Amino acid sequence: MRAPSEAGDPVGRVDRGSGGRCGDRGPLGLYLHIPFCEAICNYCNFNRGLLELGLKRRYLDALHREIERAGLAATGVRADSLFFGGGTPSVLEPIEVGALIARCRSDASLAPGAEVTLEVNPETVNAARLAGYREAGVTRLSMGVQSFRDAELRRLNRQHTATRAIDAFVVARAAGFDDISLDLMMWLPEQTVAQWCESVDTLVALGPEHVSFYLLELYPNAPLQDEMARGGWAQGPQECAADMYHAGVDRLEAADYRQYEISNAARHGHRSRHNLKYWSDGAWVGFGCGAHSTHAGERWQNVSGVGDYIDVVMAGRTPVGSLRALSTEERLTDTMFLGLRLSEGIDVAAVEERYDVDVWSRWGAELVPFVEAGLLEREPGRLRLTRAGMLLASEVMQVFV
Ligand code: SF4
Repeated sequence: MRAPSEAGDPVGRVDRGSGGRCGDRGPLGLYLHIPFCEAICNYCNFNRGLLELGLKRRYLDALHREIERAGLAATGVRADSLFFGGGTPSVLEPIEVGALIARCRSDASLAPGAEVTLEVNPETVNAARLAGYREAGVTRLSMGVQSFRDAELRRLNRQHTATRAIDAFVVARAAGFDDISLDLMMWLPEQTVAQWCESVDTLVALGPEHVSFYLLELYPNAPLQDEMARGGWAQGPQECAADMYHAGVDRLEAADYRQYEISNAARHGHRSRHNLKYWSDGAWVGFGCGAHSTHAGERWQNVSGVGDYIDVVMAGRTPVGSLRALSTEERLTDTMFLGLRLSEGIDVAAVEERYDVDVWSRWGAELVPFVEAGLLEREPGRLRLTRAGMLLASEVMQVFV
């Protein structure tokens, strides 16, 4: 949830969008962007900066103001998820998190029983802080562990150790969190398949309800590129990434996790309600710098700079940097493109009814080679990627771009 943008728009955005041409599918998700970190990881390409307490205070004031001013509660929508993402949302004090949750309940229709997720970094939490988050109304934690091997964490400039991550998990359990997701990254510099499997095994032994697993992406200007050159570190070959992916998913499935998306697996009943909205033609409204939204037939994006965001909101103007109406064609291609990320794939009949299109007549000729190559499965009423297809998802998805 991060992005650049253009000039502000003085019109209240949600008021304008609600009641638009395209109705949303299901309740809304709310996203709050917290763009502060205590240190910057050398591979990170997110919209974030170093924590400054004064700036954080001013940012939170602006965030409250933006949520209040959006007036979602007056539009009759209902939100059943709230996600604090970043950056590092766990740099917020529990009282600050609690105030934002209360704001979303009063001004953004956050429903009782909503899923409320907070991203946390292990080094920022302790027993009191986690208990405070629980009391504030956080129902789910998403913890950025990335690896259970200290050498790998050091290469990424992460601030925690494996022991600290395990302690944070144990303390979170003691604080009453019964819905915890752990993130792991694979294909790290110098990482072997066996070492990746060690991290997966440690995770399985802890037993979180949900797991996210990502391949490290090296961005062109990432400091990690230079550090790898200096240190003579390298990622394994492409086959190594594929082996890691397969080994990881196999281990998770053997431990009763079901993969439900290219990079996500969960125990029964613990799929991320919020993130599913992104992949299943859902609607969400993001608040904060760089936040994206898709709601009521429109898509918009806030200005990305923290200072610009604060200035424009506190001046009483909207922080929306760019906004456009989504055409039916765009919604259709998004639904196909993103739906393929899900293990259950695309409900073709539902898409055909919703968008008045014959999927196979429209894209069949381009999809057949992927079916023949074993990357895509076509079943009555469904289209889905195979495990091999998930590794080459971007190639298959080009069909819909
Ligand atoms: S903690 Fe997360 S958002 Fe912050 S620098 Fe590291 S990867 Fe980026």
